[in-house]
Amino acid sequence: MCESPTMSELQNLDIVLIGAGIMSATLGIMLKELMPQATIHVYERLPEIAIESSDAWNNAGTGHSAFCELNYTPQRPDGSIDASKALNIVEQFETSKQFWSHLVKKNLVDNPASFISPVPHMSFVWEKENVEYLLKRYDTLRQSPLFRDMQFSDDHAVLQQWIPLILENRKSSQPLAATKMDAGTDVNFGALTRTIFKHLQNDEHVTIFTSHEVKNLKRRKDGGWQLSVKNNITQEKKYINTKFVFLGAGGGSLHLLEKSGIPEGKGFGGFPVSGQWLRCTNPAIIAKHAAKVYGKPAVGAPPMSDPHLDTRIIDGERALLFGPFAGFSTKFLKNGSFWDLPLSINLSNIWPMIKVGLTNFALLKYLINQIKQNHNDRVNALRKFVLDAKPEDWKLEIAGQRVQVIKKDKQKGGVLQFGTEVVTCSDGSIAALLGASPGASTCVSIILNMLERCFKKEMQSPEWQAKIKEMVPSYGISAKENPEFYLQMREKTSAVLGLK
Ligand SMILES: Cc1cc2nc3c(=O)[nH]c(=O)nc-3n(C[C@H](O)[C@H](O)[C@H](O)COP(=O)(O)OP(=O)(O)OC[C@H]3O[C@@H](n4cnc5c(N)ncnc54)[C@H](O)[C@@H]3O)c2cc1C
Repeated sequence: MCESPTMSELQNLDIVLIGAGIMSATLGIMLKELMPQATIHVYERLPEIAIESSDAWNNAGTGHSAFCELNYTPQRPDGSIDASKALNIVEQFETSKQFWSHLVKKNLVDNPASFISPVPHMSFVWEKENVEYLLKRYDTLRQSPLFRDMQFSDDHAVLQQWIPLILENRKSSQPLAATKMDAGTDVNFGALTRTIFKHLQNDEHVTIFTSHEVKNLKRRKDGGWQLSVKNNITQEKKYINTKFVFLGAGGGSLHLLEKSGIPEGKGFGGFPVSGQWLRCTNPAIIAKHAAKVYGKPAVGAPPMSDPHLDTRIIDGERALLFGPFAGFSTKFLKNGSFWDLPLSINLSNIWPMIKVGLTNFALLKYLINQIKQNHNDRVNALRKFVLDAKPEDWKLEIAGQRVQVIKKDKQKGGVLQFGTEVVTCSDGSIAALLGASPGASTCVSIILNMLERCFKKEMQSPEWQAKIKEMVPSYGISAKENPEFYLQMREKTSAVLGLK
């Protein structure tokens, strides 16, 4: 990527994207379709593209479709299943696949196999009560055509076919059940991000600066923004003027949002949770498993911590991970600073943060237990899935940092959120993306939502509407109300992305 050229100060740009992860990549390539003449700079503090959360081993690579994640289908007090979130998530991932198909069809990215692979998504439970829950979930989800192909079994012989590694040495009397969706995927978001930026780099109006950190941003009198950017190699500083700025800095977005001073950004705080996996080092074990298998989360565990035994396809190689395990660090980025958390606290977010600390005991207890774990404890957790797992066949891998959003709340003082939050200012000149779940899978819906807020007038124009429909044919159509349309689109995207 681009080394710093001799830089004139105060260049006037249309767009600046801060951070070179999947979110900036998605916005960048979408804007290039919508505004081909726009001048765009991308600033990334690290020496390479996509080596924070978007990199393959820093996330689980699950194309979140609600096929397997049990936290998207909670049970109501009357025992029924609430599938509303699942329908939302499946819609968002189908949207992402439509956009990626568009990129493939237009030769903007080549070889979809380099970033997306078909891997069945399964939910797996043990104990009678959980088997009953899974059956109810299956019955509820299958009412939507988007989950029609889901299979359920509590028959050990069938499960043996589906997940032989998990069934090894199980007593035939143990109540077990699983569901299986063959339409599931594993996504290498790092590879996709790099491919998109490689394409953007060839555009004469786009410049990508690695090892360049945005240190500050100030509102200009004309409504735009002035950014101060430091070259992390030469220590040289420069100033950039831009009409629009996207804070796609992952864990770094909160600090930048605070620096922007926009009123919409007041009251937000962040709580970092680091992720860890056990990664299998034994090829014979890796070869025995071919699915993403999600179980039930522990009591008090945050929503994105369902334990899962996960086949990954990274750079053409099959791998196997189990996790996530949570760790604690005050860093907001894997390559961040221990000062990230303390320096993010200010007068507007200190009370929401205290309130969240005082009201989330179960989460706190869960995190303390996780942090206390050693290798044998983690292997013991894995033994719920692989009965005879041996410590020497697995090694610890450090994943990315998730910064959970803490938000001011009128009634509760402060709430902890596990989703993503797009913060925009009223004139649409700046947007920040906070939070990390369901994350990369939903990048296209997140960016479309952000465009609707920041480019309101343009998004309503017939030209933009037509282009958006070309990129994402389901735009403006709800999966809940028109699932058959989404199903047809799934057929098409599967063919283009090589998922059949
Ligand atoms: C443990 C874990 C598991 C996950 N599993 C999944 C999953 O299975 N499926 C899924 O869809 N999502 C998953 N996610 C979420 C997903 O990884 C993120 O949502 C996604 O990668 C975020 O992309 P991003 O572009 O916002 O951030 P990033 O990829 O983190 O990119 C942000 C970039 O901004 C740069 N930056 C920061 N500050 C500055 C600055 N001041 N100046 C310049 N550059 C800056 C950073 O160096 C970084 O490169 C997981 C996340 C974690 C941590």
